[in-house]
Amino acid sequence: MSAPTRESRRILVVDDNSAIHQDFRKILTRSGEGSEELDAMESMLFGGDALPGSSTTRFELDFALGGEEGVRRVRDAVREGRPYALAFVDIRMPPGMDGVETTLHMWREEVDLQVVLCSAYSDYSWDELSRKLGTSERLLILRKPFDSIEVRQMAHALCEKWELLRASHRRMEDLERMVEERTRALAEANARLLHAQKLEALGRMSAGLAHEVNNPLSYILSNLRHVVRGLETLPCPVEGVRARDDLGEACRDAILGAERIARIVQDVRVFARVDEPPRELVDVRQVMELSISMAAEALRPGLRLVRDFHEVPPVWGSEHGLGQVFLNLIINAAHALAGREEPFIRLGLLRREDGRVAVEVQDNGCGIRAEHLGRLFEPFFTTKPVGTGTGLGLSICHGIVTRLGGDIAVDSTPGQGTTFRVLLPMASRPGA
Ligand code: ADP
Ligand code: MG
Repeated sequence: MSAPTRESRRILVVDDNSAIHQDFRKILTRSGEGSEELDAMESMLFGGDALPGSSTTRFELDFALGGEEGVRRVRDAVREGRPYALAFVDIRMPPGMDGVETTLHMWREEVDLQVVLCSAYSDYSWDELSRKLGTSERLLILRKPFDSIEVRQMAHALCEKWELLRASHRRMEDLERMVEERTRALAEANARLLHAQKLEALGRMSAGLAHEVNNPLSYILSNLRHVVRGLETLPCPVEGVRARDDLGEACRDAILGAERIARIVQDVRVFARVDEPPRELVDVRQVMELSISMAAEALRPGLRLVRDFHEVPPVWGSEHGLGQVFLNLIINAAHALAGREEPFIRLGLLRREDGRVAVEVQDNGCGIRAEHLGRLFEPFFTTKPVGTGTGLGLSICHGIVTRLGGDIAVDSTPGQGTTFRVLLPMASRPGA
């Protein structure tokens, strides 16, 4: 393992005798007397790394005259983000906390702190110590009077140990973070997959349904039309005219209903991609004009329609598909404007900085409630009364636009209005 980067390691000396502070200063800082001799000895013990005057671990020393001050310094150092690696703590420091108690308090502030308890007398037996402090790998005992080399050796070894301990903690935290991130990404991918599978299953079912309904529907419609035509030409006695007209009326109602079913089936077919339109170069502006004229019936008199059209390059898609998208958005806007004073729709066409073509359909209608925003593109989601909306419009738009490599998004304020924005990739080359 490579050695961690060397910066000065902080050591705290807690002793009620300031002469002892001086001893530690001499032993552990290079400027102290006799330090050359110590350096030489150390280099023998630790190998070439610790040549005299080399840049091995440098110690930064702080001193405390009592247990309380020592604990406070440990706490402050943690707060500053520059914790101590090691503390030399005198066992006997009357009248305050003794070394054992001080150590216990210091570990509450900083768990990794390495501690050397210094004792001149047999104040505590080893058994007593381990009962009070637990058998801790963070603790060593040093008997007074000190041997300078022993002190330096301890300082080096324990600071190194502290450094490795911290590195392993950091590694552990990194690993935990990585696991957390991966788990989250996996959960998101799963949710997306599930959603896609749901839509696909729904698409398959709808396609099957549309196929089954289409056939009987077409002969219901053609037969109804046949009956209506037949009734009109049927000679009947004067008293039968009323009955004939009633029957004709009933048939025409039935035709309207059947035609509505036919439209829904057609929508479902598009949603289920039964009829995938061909791709071609599309002039978006022209398609928008076509959609506007198709929507004319739904646009009530007095509605102000503003065209905010800019020059845009052609896009690669299908005229039919995009026409359906714009038509749906315009009709939805018109519905949202029902009963509004000064109704207004703005149609925007512009080229964005990222090269995509943006189509905007903005209205000053009723707006969309926040809790509905996330469900708009779901098939069959509608807030319109039964018989009015099928809830397929926006899911069809979403399908068409995303299949072209585009995006559709909505921005709405309840009571003020809504903007739908369709982003289409520009056609750089056919088939791209
Ligand atoms: P439908 O129009 O048949 O209800 P859509 O998929 O087209 O189905 O729209 C789903 C719902 O989204 C609508 O019922 C309506 O609540 C909401 N919506 C769509 N466009 C607008 C709009 N411009 N303003 C307000 N609400 C809208
Ligand atoms: Mg709609």
